[in-house]
Parts: sequence; structure tokens; C-alpha cells
Amino acid sequence: MNIHEYQAKALFEKFGVPVPKGVAAKSPLEFEAALAQLPDAPVVVKSQIHAGGRGKGTFTDGFKGGVKFAKTKTDALDYANKMFGNTLVTAQTGAAGRKVQTVYFTQASDIKKEYYLAILLDRASSRPVIVASTEGGVEIEKVAHDTPEKIFKIVIDPAYGLADFQIRDLIARLGFAGNEAKNAAKLIRSLYACYWETDAAMIEVNPLITTPTGEVLALDAKVSFDSNALYRHPEIIALRDLNEEDPKEIEASKYALSYIALDGNIACLVNGAGLAMSTMDIIQHFGGSPANFLDVGGGASKDQVVAAFKIILGDPNVKGILVNIFGGIMDCNVIATGIVEAVKEVGLKLPLVVRLEGNNVAAGKATLANSGLTIVSGDTMADAAQKIVKLVA
Ligand code: ADP
Ligand code: MG
Repeated sequence: MNIHEYQAKALFEKFGVPVPKGVAAKSPLEFEAALAQLPDAPVVVKSQIHAGGRGKGTFTDGFKGGVKFAKTKTDALDYANKMFGNTLVTAQTGAAGRKVQTVYFTQASDIKKEYYLAILLDRASSRPVIVASTEGGVEIEKVAHDTPEKIFKIVIDPAYGLADFQIRDLIARLGFAGNEAKNAAKLIRSLYACYWETDAAMIEVNPLITTPTGEVLALDAKVSFDSNALYRHPEIIALRDLNEEDPKEIEASKYALSYIALDGNIACLVNGAGLAMSTMDIIQHFGGSPANFLDVGGGASKDQVVAAFKIILGDPNVKGILVNIFGGIMDCNVIATGIVEAVKEVGLKLPLVVRLEGNNVAAGKATLANSGLTIVSGDTMADAAQKIVKLVA
């Protein structure tokens, strides 16, 4: 689960990570009151969307920059009105962009230097890792590619936690000295506590900055959490912003379906995550392109299948559907009955290929055959994939 920058910064403050003062507004009616809470000094106006690269982004109406420096509060108000309700396209949003529904006003900081600092789970070592660089602010992927020696990694023993010598090492490698070093050490320790105690999956601060007076501040904040641990953090679940999530994915979660929207035109309905992955692979293998990942689980009910069809058809790009079921726990006839009901209920006009195998498959196939509906049967995965790819071509 992702949260907004303004929420992440509030969380940072709880853990003692210094951030510039800021106020979020969820409606233009709140803009003036929000600005009134900041000192009479330059303000940075920041679009709140769950995607990075906002500073270099462009709105669909041509307005440039999802992060704007405003010399005066009058300018800040003007920028906020241009951003709010407008759709911001960045390198991370995809072409459709994201509608800005919250604006964050933050005190402009005097930047001496920008750094990069992130804490995330390293899957290779199964440990938390701190990734840092003196080359912050710009795209870190580019630094990693062109000058990998400028990126430092510190792997943390989760049983011991972040050790003092590791912090000293990091501080030295980033070139901090004196007051900056002291403040940076404190910030890194607090940020690690935040990562650990909230069960975060990733915390990214880009840029982390120093100021001419020796302060060290988190100027940007991107935080995501491990969804498997959310049950023990109700205060974090409360930060969820459904505006930022695909409505189809929200609907799917209500029916305990694992659905992830993709860019292709062949919708898949599969039981089991592994089979769902290989179904997407085989569609690609035969020259097609999957519209989604959808796992109905090991023991889906008829209602879930009907819900799954409706969700799939909510995607206007879908030109055909491939159902691929291996009945282990699942009774193929339950799926078949669900399919027939769903097709009738939604009045399906698109080509549908179904491949059933396993538990009670004969009854399942009979249900499909006797339904009077145009359902193409696939004998094997390869056969079914080839058929649906041909039908949507
Ligand atoms: P994004 O990464 O989505 O583009 P950032 O919050 O990193 O958004 O903002 C982009 C750039 O804007 C930063 O690299 C920084 O140079 C500048 N910036 C952001 N917040 C402030 C601030 N409070 N004061 C001064 N400059 C800022
Ligand atoms: Mg940034």
C-alpha cells in the first residue's frame, strides 16, 4: 500500500525525521487557510499523487510542473488552483496520468546539496538495505546506470538492527562532517526506526538535503507498506486513498480476488497465482497481450466468478477472455456454472475461450456445452491461448 508525500512526512515527524513545515489541502476552499499556517516566505506547491517524477511532469492541459516554487503566497495560490483537479502525467504515471485531488503547501528550503536515501527490503539477502548517494534529486536510475560507484548500499542484520558503525560508515561515504554529520546520523537512525516499526516495504527520500545552516531534511518522501502486515497497523490503513487505486482492483479486493490491471486486450480468469502467471506468459508466447492478472483463488464460488467477469469487462481495452482453470480443490462444474451465469448476466459479446481440466471436468464441460452460449473450448493451455489470440486479432 502506498501513501502520499504529506502523509509520509507526518509519519516521519512522529519518528523524529526532520521535514520542512507543510500543510495539505483537499479542496480549493482550504487553500488560503492552509497557506495562512505557513510563514510569509517562499512556498513550494506540491501535487499529491501516488507517483514520482512530479517536478518534471506536465499536466494534460499543458501546465508544466507538479512541484512549483512560489515566491509569494499569491503565486502559491495561483499554482495550487492550476494543479487541483488537473491531471498530471509523469514518467511514472503512464500516459493517462493522475488527477490531483490534494495539494501540499510546504515551506521552501534553502538547498545546499541534494542526496538520495532509501531503505527497502533486499530480496537477494532477505535483509533491509539502505541505499544512498551523493547524487540526489535527479533520477536515481540514471545514476545507478551511468555511475554505479556513486551509490552505496548497507545491508542490515534485522536481528541486531542498524548498527552505529554502519551509520558512521554511511555518513563518511556521503561526505558529511561536523553538525551535518550529527544531524544526518540522527535522521538516518529515526528513518530506520520508522521503516522497521511501520512494516514499511520501502522508504525513499529523494532528495534528502542539507541547508547552509547545517540542517538535514527530508524534502520528498515516498513510502509503501507490506500489505501482509497492515492488519497490525490500523493507523496506516486509515491513510489509504482509494482515489489513487484502480476501481477494478478495489472491487476485486471486496470479493477476495487478486486482480491487477495490465495494458493488453486479452482478459484472463485463472485459479492460482502460478497458473495465472503462466497463462499470461503463454498468451504473450503466442503473440497476444494480457489485459490483467486475475486469480480467483483455490476454491472460488459462483458469485466470485460472476464478480470476476464484471471486473474484467470494466476494462474497455478487453477484446476477448481466456478462462484457464485447473480443478484441484476447485470443482470445474462450479466454475462452468459461474461462467454460464456470468455470460448471461453481463450479456457477453466478446469471444470467450475456456480451458477446464481436473476435478469434475466432464460435468463442467457438459454445463458449458449445454448452455447454448458461444463458448470456445480449449483442450490444452497452448490450444486455448492460440485460439483466444486468433479471436482478438
Ligand atoms: P518529485 O520527486 O515527485 O519530482 P520532489 O518532492 O522531489 O518531487 O520535488 C522535486 C524537486 O523540487 C526537488 O528535487 C527539489 O529540488 C525541489 N523541492 C521540493 N520540495 C522543496 C522544498 N520544500 N523546498 C525547496 N525545494 C523543493
Ligand atoms: Mg523526489
